[in-house]
Formats: sequence, structure tokens, C-alpha cells
Amino acid sequence: MEHMKLLCDFSEINWVFADSASIETFLQKIVTMVAKHMQAHVSSIYLYDEAEHELTLRATQGLNPDAVNRVKLRLGEGITGLALKELRPVTQRGGEVHPNYKAIPGIFEENFESFLAVPIVRGVSRVGVLTAQRVRERNFTDEDVMAMRAIASQLANILENAKLLMGLEGKLLSPTREESLSDLKFLKGKKAAPGFAYAPTRVVDRGRGLSFLYRREIQGEYGIEDFRRALSATEQQLSTLQTEIGERLSDAASLIFTSHLLILKDRRFVGAIEEMIEEGINPPEAVRSVAEKYVEAFSKSSDPYIKEKASDLLDLALRLFSNIIEDTGEVYTFRGRVVVARDLFPSDFLRMSSEGVAGIVMATGGVTSHLSILARSLRIPMVIVDEPRLLGLPESSLLLLDAELGNIYVNPSEEVVSAFNKRNEARSKADADKLRMEPVSHTRDGVRVRLLANINLLTDLDLAREMKCEGIGLYRTEFPFIIRSDFPCEEEQYVVYRKLIEACPGKPITLRTLDIGGDKVLSYFPRIREQNPFLGLRSIRFTLKHKDILVAQVRAMLRAGKGADLRIMFPMISSIEEFRRAKDVVRECIADLTKEKVEHNSKPGIGMMVEVPSVVDLADDFARQADFFSLGTNDFIQYLLAVDRTNEKVGDLYIPHHPAVLRSLKRVADAALRADIELSVCGDMAHDVRLLPFLLGIGVRHLSMAPVYLPKVQRAVLDLSYQDAGELTGALIRANEVREVERLLDKTVPRGVPTSRVVEAGVVHDGLSNAVSG
Ligand code: PEP
Ligand code: MG
Repeated sequence: MEHMKLLCDFSEINWVFADSASIETFLQKIVTMVAKHMQAHVSSIYLYDEAEHELTLRATQGLNPDAVNRVKLRLGEGITGLALKELRPVTQRGGEVHPNYKAIPGIFEENFESFLAVPIVRGVSRVGVLTAQRVRERNFTDEDVMAMRAIASQLANILENAKLLMGLEGKLLSPTREESLSDLKFLKGKKAAPGFAYAPTRVVDRGRGLSFLYRREIQGEYGIEDFRRALSATEQQLSTLQTEIGERLSDAASLIFTSHLLILKDRRFVGAIEEMIEEGINPPEAVRSVAEKYVEAFSKSSDPYIKEKASDLLDLALRLFSNIIEDTGEVYTFRGRVVVARDLFPSDFLRMSSEGVAGIVMATGGVTSHLSILARSLRIPMVIVDEPRLLGLPESSLLLLDAELGNIYVNPSEEVVSAFNKRNEARSKADADKLRMEPVSHTRDGVRVRLLANINLLTDLDLAREMKCEGIGLYRTEFPFIIRSDFPCEEEQYVVYRKLIEACPGKPITLRTLDIGGDKVLSYFPRIREQNPFLGLRSIRFTLKHKDILVAQVRAMLRAGKGADLRIMFPMISSIEEFRRAKDVVRECIADLTKEKVEHNSKPGIGMMVEVPSVVDLADDFARQADFFSLGTNDFIQYLLAVDRTNEKVGDLYIPHHPAVLRSLKRVADAALRADIELSVCGDMAHDVRLLPFLLGIGVRHLSMAPVYLPKVQRAVLDLSYQDAGELTGALIRANEVREVERLLDKTVPRGVPTSRVVEAGVVHDGLSNAVSG
């Protein structure tokens, strides 16, 4: 009964947080509540530092308060460390000594032998440990353990946020541990977006950002007039930025500063600052204080969309602050900086790009794959490295970023810089040569191959045109959706698609309907928790379920495609019925537009991506109903081989040249040839030049890829003999082991291709997913 009451109390935890003046008081309130409800003499919270593999005592009720922040335990050390290591509750009965027990001098725990430690875990991340201790006579029962587990799970979310803030503040207090950074000279990371940068750093860390605001000195006394002046100056700056970025990135930018501008107009925000000023608080101080409350409230949220708002608010507060003190010289800008960040939002990328950021280092490993694609589309060199210590680098340290190789040099020596410059000159020359592409591609014996571009953002178009692509084989329509803060309407989508179509007059343009789900999430759409999102409500399943979204998109496509060679492509089709339902939507939209007398393309090609293995057996049936097939090999391989394309642990099992993949693709290609429909490849296999002979051998004549790969593939096509390709294909289809396939491919390495492995380890994938693998 007592424990039931406890759970109810803990559901109020957010109120406790909101009511606490600081994180420390919040934690203290928690341990006091736990001790009371568990009828324990002691309760403590330890938070875990992932980077240091270390637990730190952050609050205690009943032990020596001086021990807070001092007592540290390694993962696995003591009863507490063991609970976190093994992710299970650990108990010690009074009068017994657990084999893992570790006596810590000076914390006065000698009398409290009954011990219970419960891990606090959120998803897969270790947050910390909650402990309770009683005197020897009063052991913890199974019921107590259950109750503590329930509390720990209720606390996990909020403690993770607290941990983030505390951890960062902790780092700020001891500015940078130079000694622990001294070995940070060279780091090897993962290439996420190619390019180079040699520039001073700008560390972006949410919690740190807040403190950054606090480090700014306020020298003068200001009044309400200064605040109002700053308000309108900030508004002016943001509108100018919005216009600039809108011109450069029309599809993606979609009003990224609107939320800033909205906050500026929010009476509660502005009113709260004005009220403080009227009470006699210096305006910069008032901005800081109100902004802090908002930022804290936002960053506590588990909703990524709200979290993103915290960074908007921080940015806004910095602008307001600088404008009040007219400190224009030190405006927080990313121009010419290499940003070192813990995590960034798509809107951060757009802002950084608009300000002319030199490069980005993501310093804590995992990054959602669309960020890599975004960086690449915005041409921001980016490397991902799992080295959180980089976040502790002093501001303006010099970083040399070679995102072509994934190399990061911290404060490089002159020799490194000059060697790098020389290599870079040679590279630029090679790049210029690359641009000299032939307008058409054919094999040595005259088989015509069409090289098309995959486009993620309209900015990719420039390069695609420089590379003389023969059309757009895949426009991933997700980006305008991912980047915005709500669904773009039909009209907004029309504008984007029309720009794309007008940029490639007379050329085939393939627009794919929304391929959301899997690891591509819309922050503004209520997230359904799915155990296996790649097998869940993804792609065509999502759009057929939310038909209004599909209808708006298809209408925009049809209208934009007026007079063009428009193709509409459906992703992730797995059954004939599904494809028919998708086609019906196009038919209905055409009928409606005709009735409404709205100009549109009434005869688009309607095709499908081959990404799901169920298509293989039904390929002839599908081919009779589709105008074209496009082989989405990224997903096809993942689904056929049951290997998650974003999971590095099984990266070695993701084998594009697996015999089952090759044979299945051949069967699909045969069906396309029999039905005489167009067959293209738009997955990453399209730029895998070692598999080029195979693709041509099975009948593929259209290859669509990220523009950057076009020169390499054209060279390989021009070098190839179609007859040899046919012979090799026959042998590949007969092979039934991966090693045999590899031997055959090794014998026929195209000129200019390294003889190592087929899969380009660490190469930036073209797709939104898997963009950081390798
Ligand atoms: C694919 O799956 O091969 C493909 C091109 O789609 P995406 O990479 O966008 O999932
Ligand atoms: Mg796909």
C-alpha cells in the first residue's frame, strides 16, 4: 500500500523539478522523498559519465553531504557500480558482506548495512544509480526492489536531462583539463560529408551555451529603451537572415527563423523581461534570466521538437543580449568556424550554412543519418568521431578537418598544414579534371547508359548540372518535410518541385513520394513508438494511412510536372494491392485537378521502387502494372539479408554482392525486360563501379546516384566492354558463395579502382539512411 502511494507521488516529479531552484536542490528533494517512502535511512543518487566510465555521487540523504561530487566509482565498482554494469538491482543483506562491497572512508555509511542499488536506465543509455540503505535489521524485500525499480524508471528521463546540465556545468567549472586533452592531436573519424576546413573551433553544447550567456560580462547599466532597441534590431537581423537563406535554400530553409520571430512576438517572453526591467533589473540580466527559464523548460522535454526550440531560444537570447550591450564585435556567429558539437538539429545546419560555417565535427559518435545528408547537400565538410573530450577544447583552438579522409588534426603543426595544403592543391586540380565529363555515356562497344542524379536538396542541383546528369532518377522529397516544423502544404511543395523541374528542362524527373519512418522521423508528427521502425509504419505504408498527406503531395507533383517528363515513384511497395492503391491516388488526383480546371500533367509515368523481397516472386505481375522499376538496393539488401542498414555491428553482413542479392536482382531485371519497362538503379549500388558490369549485364541502362559520383561512374562505363560484362554476369549468377563472387569481381577490377574491397568502407552513402555507416 505504502509503495502504491509512492508511485503516485513520483508521477508529480515534473512539478518537483519545476519547483526547484537548481538541479542540485531537485536531486536533493528526490533522495529525501525516496528515503522517506522506502523507509530507508539513506538514499543517494549517482549519475554516470559515459565518457569517463565513472559514477559520481550527486545527492544523498543520510550520508556525509561533503561526499557529494567527491565520491566516484568506476563502472562495476562496489555494489552501486555493479548494479549499473550489469543493469540489475543489487542487494546486500544486513550482517552479510556482498563480494562487490567497497568501503568508502568518510561517508559515514558503516551503520547502514542493508543496501539496495537500482540502475537508472533510459533506452540503452546508462543514466545512473539510485540507492537506499537501512540499518542491518531491516533488509530490503522483493517488494522494495520492485518499488525502487519503478521509481528509477520514472526518474530516468528527467535525470538524464539533469545529468546533461550538471555534467556540462561541471566541465565549465574546471575549464579544460589540459592534461587530458594533450593527447588529442590527431583523430580518425567517419566521413559524413566531404571537404576540408582549417579554422578556429566553435564548441556548441546545449548546456554550455547557457553558461556561455553567463560568461558574458555586463559592464554598463541599461534601460527599457535599450531593450526595445535591441528587440527591433534583433527582429531586423533575423528577417535579413531569413531572406538570405531563403534565396539560397528555398526548399529547406522554409522559414527556419520563424520560431525565433514568434518568440520575439510572444508577450509572455517579452513581457517577463520587461517586467523584470521595470523592477530594476539590468536588461541584459533580465534577458538571461528569462531565457534560462525557457531553455531549461524546453531542454527537459523528451520531445525532440521541443528540445530543438531550446536551441532557437538560446540563439535568440544571445542576439538580444549582444544587441543590448551593442557588442556587435562578439556576436555569436559560425562564420569561418569549425563547429564541434554534441548534437545538432537540422535547423542548426541551415543556420550554420547560412552564416558560412567552415566545417562540422560531431563529437559523440551517433548521428541520425539525415544530418549527414544535409551536411553533404549544404556542402559543409563533416566528420563524426566518438570523442566527447573534443567538447572540452578551449574556444578557438585550431582544427584541421580533412573530411575526405575523416581526419581531424587539433592545433596542427606547420608541417601538417603545409603538407595538407599541397595535397589539397593536387586534389583541386583533380577535381577540376573530374568536371570535364562527356555529355553522354556508352560502353566501349556502344551500349548507351544514362547517368542520372539523386537529389536530396535543391542545392544538389548545381553539382548535378555541372556533372551533366541526364535527368533526375530520384528526388527524395523527405527533406522539406524533415527540416520544417510542420507539414509543407500543397502549394509549398509545388514551388519546390517546380524549381527542380525547371532546372532540368526536357529531362526525365523522377519524384518519389514521402519515404518517412525507419530512421527518418518528423519531429512534429506524433511519434509512434515502434520496436522495429524499419519494419513498421514506414514509407508508402505511412502515406497510404495518412492519405491526405499523400494526396497533397501527388497534387503538387502533378501540377509542377505540367509539360515535363514527370515520373512519380512509390517507395517500399510490397504487394500488388498496395501498388494499386497508390496508383489509384494518382488517378483520383488527376481526375480532381481536371474537374477543378487546374493545369497539371495528366500522363505521368508511375513506377515503383524495388526494395522489398516480396516483389521478386511477383516481379512479372508488378511489371505489367508499372511504367518503370527502380532498384532501391540500399533497402533491398537490408530486407533480403535481414541486416539493419544503420547498425554498424552487423555492417560486415551488409553485402551488396551477396549471391542471393545478385540472383534476386537478375530475376527482377528479367521481368522488367520481358515487360519492356524501364529499369534503373537508384540505391548506392549505382555507383559501385565494381558491380557496374553486373548491372549492365542484367539489363540496367539507367543509373542514378549522388552527383559527386557521376564522373567516376562515367569513366567506368566508357572503359567497359558490354560483351565482357555479359560473360562476367553469367559467372556471377552461377556463384553461390560470397567469396566466389569476390574472386570473380577481383579479376575484373575496372581501371582506376583500388583492388581492395567491393564495399567502400566509410564512404558517405547516398541515401538518407546508412549515411554514416562504414
Ligand atoms: C534505397 O533504398 O536504395 C533508396 C534509394 O532509398 P533510400 O536510400 O532513400 O531509402
Ligand atoms: Mg529506400
